[in-house]
Amino acid sequence: MTRQFLRVWMLGLTLIVLTGCGPTSLDKAMSRLDHRPDWKRHSKLDLPRHPAEKHLQGWVIVLDPGHGGQAHKKGFKRGPTGVREAEMNWRVGKLLERLLTDAGASVTLTRDGDEFVSLKDRAEVANNLARPDGGTGADLFISLHHNASSRESANFSSVWYHGEADWSERSLDVARYVAHHLGTQLRTNVAHTSPLMSDQLMYPGGFGVLRQSNVPALLCESSFFSNYDEEQRLRDADYNLREAYAIYLGLCEYAYGGRPTQSTPKVEQIDGTLRISTVLDDGLDKGWWGHERDRTLSSTINITLDGKRLVTHYDPKTKSVVAEVGADLAEIDGPSPHIIEIHHTNMFKHHNYPQRYSLVPEGGAGGGLAVKALGPVRAPAKE
Ligand SMILES: [Zn+2]
Repeated sequence: MTRQFLRVWMLGLTLIVLTGCGPTSLDKAMSRLDHRPDWKRHSKLDLPRHPAEKHLQGWVIVLDPGHGGQAHKKGFKRGPTGVREAEMNWRVGKLLERLLTDAGASVTLTRDGDEFVSLKDRAEVANNLARPDGGTGADLFISLHHNASSRESANFSSVWYHGEADWSERSLDVARYVAHHLGTQLRTNVAHTSPLMSDQLMYPGGFGVLRQSNVPALLCESSFFSNYDEEQRLRDADYNLREAYAIYLGLCEYAYGGRPTQSTPKVEQIDGTLRISTVLDDGLDKGWWGHERDRTLSSTINITLDGKRLVTHYDPKTKSVVAEVGADLAEIDGPSPHIIEIHHTNMFKHHNYPQRYSLVPEGGAGGGLAVKALGPVRAPAKE
């Protein structure tokens, strides 16, 4: 017995000596920092399921692989050796669809293979989607593209939102995580410029798919197919998988930090006072330790009526917020319908959605008011 134990112990010791296993010393760890690899060297393709993917369960996501159906157009959206952007976008879309479906999300693609779909129709897929929970419209619309430049060396990752940063709070929350993971997984020229960009930098009306989307939307320009080396990587489905996985990781981390929302605001008119009230939901897991603590940043709570900020009273115990205006709605000048905006963020700095509601007098003897959720602000349509 003792001899057998000794034999196993000796074998273990021999293995440690031969393979160098066992804990690394501080000196050895320090010396690794003397020989750090170049940023551009890609790590091994490793695809573990992120434990936070459970927070994506039940999400309704529309993926929009850009372009398609235009292979006959000579040189249209092709790299230096002729690789088509539409094909790489498609492969990333299919791989991401699989990753998100495996996580329990409900995923719809805007095109089926190499077909032409107009920008408006792509956005309409997200706007009009019949949700499994009976509602209408996706939680998130993600358009998948790759970039091109006359500067051959250009190769950075960017994620685009619509219009002003103020119009796209939820899109920016998601875009931040996605952009950082794209840069890290694809080893593009990170920190070359902002990874988050407004689509109005390209066109006054922004990108057609983002402008016409009524749900939180973003557009990835993950890397540059006009760069020869990158084009060669982008023709490889394993590299496309690396990109899809980066977007998946970004979505898992975003979902982990929760999606704040609130009850549809209640609007009452009592003795010449208009009273707006709602109950906030921080969007975070109700089962977490410490969930009874306030996880909303109270400085971010803000209610406006027709763009004018109202004084709000927040009760962290009940999560209710109340704002009052000392006038009847009929006495308040403003657009028709009147617009209520509600903003708040949770401790992960994730913004609420929806943020805008229309307020319309219902007419009749009761003098009721109808409140309806609206999509984000969008640039005016082009002529
Ligand atoms: Zn494109």
